[in-house]
Amino acid sequence: MDVVVTGGAGFIGANLCRLLGAAPGIGRIVALDDLSTGSRSNLPHDGRIELREGSILDRAALDAACTEADAIVHLAARPSVPRSLADPVASHEVNASGTVAVLEAARRAGDVHVIVASVEPALAGRGQASFVVPEKTPGLSMGQKFSKMGIRASHTAEVVLEDCRIPGSCLLGGKDRLDERLARARDGQRSQSQAAMATFEATRPAVGAQALGIARAAYEYALDYAKERKQFGRAIVENQAIAFKLADMKTRIDGARLLVWRAAWMAATRKPYLNGEGSMSKLVAGETAVHVTEEAIQILGGYGYVRDYPVERWHRDSKIYTIFEGTSEIQRLVIARAISGVRVQ
Ligand SMILES: Cc1cc2nc3c(=O)[nH]c(=O)nc-3n(C[C@H](O)[C@H](O)[C@H](O)COP(=O)(O)OP(=O)(O)OC[C@H]3O[C@@H](n4cnc5c(N)ncnc54)[C@H](O)[C@@H]3O)c2cc1C
Repeated sequence: MDVVVTGGAGFIGANLCRLLGAAPGIGRIVALDDLSTGSRSNLPHDGRIELREGSILDRAALDAACTEADAIVHLAARPSVPRSLADPVASHEVNASGTVAVLEAARRAGDVHVIVASVEPALAGRGQASFVVPEKTPGLSMGQKFSKMGIRASHTAEVVLEDCRIPGSCLLGGKDRLDERLARARDGQRSQSQAAMATFEATRPAVGAQALGIARAAYEYALDYAKERKQFGRAIVENQAIAFKLADMKTRIDGARLLVWRAAWMAATRKPYLNGEGSMSKLVAGETAVHVTEEAIQILGGYGYVRDYPVERWHRDSKIYTIFEGTSEIQRLVIARAISGVRVQ
């Protein structure tokens, strides 16, 4: 079977083409060059893939390619892309056995909620406990689902608790440990850290690693683009104004990566974060992702701002990393308190 591949899915597109090429029964692949830069530059060179001028919206190119093929695979980076392009694809006359495959991100809601509640309000933050609460618990319901600026493939909704009674069996860590911790807090003894905060501190390197992935994708895409795009007779990367941006992007990414690796290594070897190292990794990785993705938009110029290219999406996705799992301000607070021993407000 011969296949036409079209559409943008960033670097994933090249891997999908590879998988497609390895699938039994696939003969020749005609790739239209509306594939994103990352996909195009990473296509395998095995002689079976032909890169051809054209796009899914270019009727003539699509016609020509489809008369030779049995199927069209449209690689869509965003669910909105296949929807808006559904008509031209669906109404297109390909061979009688023609197939249109649209690849979209899947979405799945969780089965349990982890809820942090005050069990002894007089002890403030030290009087809290975490509960694992099944979704079907009476009194627990889902509120509105939010429409977000970025990470739109992830489901974010209100969790409403109304007269929700949670049995002691849902207590995370068990009652004995909670009783011991509360007794220490009542006696005024210092515990090493507050349980919920300690959990966040440990999960922050993983969240930092996600932010780093977005920053890296945007940097690699912008670097490829800057080498390819010619203006005023030369590739735009030959201008210091662009090359220095890329140098700064790479430097900041590598710095953030080392902080993430250090925090992950400390967690793996059970070394305590005495200076807020978990927070440092997430703070720097999150802010790096916002900065790098914005610079990537600038490097792509007008194409950076339009939705046909993935960098504007990466920028929208990156912003959450300065907000959830502790805002950047709170990360600085954690680090400031850890290094000074002062309860900075
Ligand atoms: C997409 C998404 C997913 C989320 N997922 C989860 C989740 O799975 N679980 C969960 O528990 N929460 C989740 N959250 C909530 C998220 O963690 C909070 O939005 C975030 O911690 C900020 O809290 P807030 O919105 O109440 O802002 P506020 O606390 O009102 O803060 C507003 C501003 O004031 C600053 N600020 C507040 N207090 C201080 C202070 N003491 N010192 C200095 N600055 C301060 C903040 O940094 C921020 O800039 C999610 C949020 C979003 C948007």
